[in-house]
Amino acid sequence: MAWRSSGTSNESLIENLWKNKLITQPLVKAAFLRVDRAHYAPSSPYEDRPQSIGHSATISAPHMHASAVESLLPFLLPRTDDEPKQSAEGVPSIVGQPRRPRRVLDIGSGSGYLTHVLAELVGSDGVVVGIEHISALKELGEANMRKSAEGRDLLDSGRVRFRVGDGRKGWAEPTSDSKPGVGGPARDAEDARSENKDQAGGWDAIHVGAAAAELHEELVRQLRSPGRMFIPVSDEDGFDQYIWTVDKDEDGRIEKKKLYGVRYVPLTDAPK
Ligand code: SAH
Repeated sequence: MAWRSSGTSNESLIENLWKNKLITQPLVKAAFLRVDRAHYAPSSPYEDRPQSIGHSATISAPHMHASAVESLLPFLLPRTDDEPKQSAEGVPSIVGQPRRPRRVLDIGSGSGYLTHVLAELVGSDGVVVGIEHISALKELGEANMRKSAEGRDLLDSGRVRFRVGDGRKGWAEPTSDSKPGVGGPARDAEDARSENKDQAGGWDAIHVGAAAAELHEELVRQLRSPGRMFIPVSDEDGFDQYIWTVDKDEDGRIEKKKLYGVRYVPLTDAPK
């Protein structure tokens, strides 16, 4: 499956993923077409295989990125469910309630490629945070994103943020970072309220790009209701790895699903 989708350009790679049904949703295809993998993969960017990016890390294969985005899509697209709903009398039942912007966490952001694709889907008020425990790779993700005008805009607007930290603990954005442009106009009460919600609210989608030793409870805790995590997890013997999804429903109920076997670099302590 891996090499069947290789192409000679970004477009032919994505078309091949589509033909091979590794991408099935038009919005996912459109997002992948908007991001040139050559900005993120140092060699053979249109091959459907992982490539080394240094520091024992790899940019994952395109078909794995495709699988992750296909799975997370319902939790990435701008929400419509808390927009005003029509009651039986045709009167909006929730009037003037602000739409809750999407918040997505990409753990082990590495090259920054998937972080960029995710940002293409969350809408102009969404936020994607890429977290890396190796600061050189955090810098690499940022530098790769700066290669395109769209990437620069995502960084400069604060819609994408790369951070250094241990992804096993998840991430909480400092409140002052929620609004880019410190020293800008004073925040009104509504801004402050939505920031607080942001702070407490966790993540609609969490992508983990390295194999975890377990389904880290802290990550599940940081999922919003509803929310979904896509995570490779090593079996107890440490040899086999499987993709799991963890869904948290509206009522906070958790459902864990083991999907298929994979091979990722491990989610570890930061090298000394
Ligand atoms: N999604 C990335 C995958 C990079 S490989 C891409 O496709 O480019 C996995 C990454 O996880 C590596 O960059 C590695 O440095 C990072 N990583 C491993 N353990 C981590 C941890 N505990 N916290 C944050 N990042 C981690």
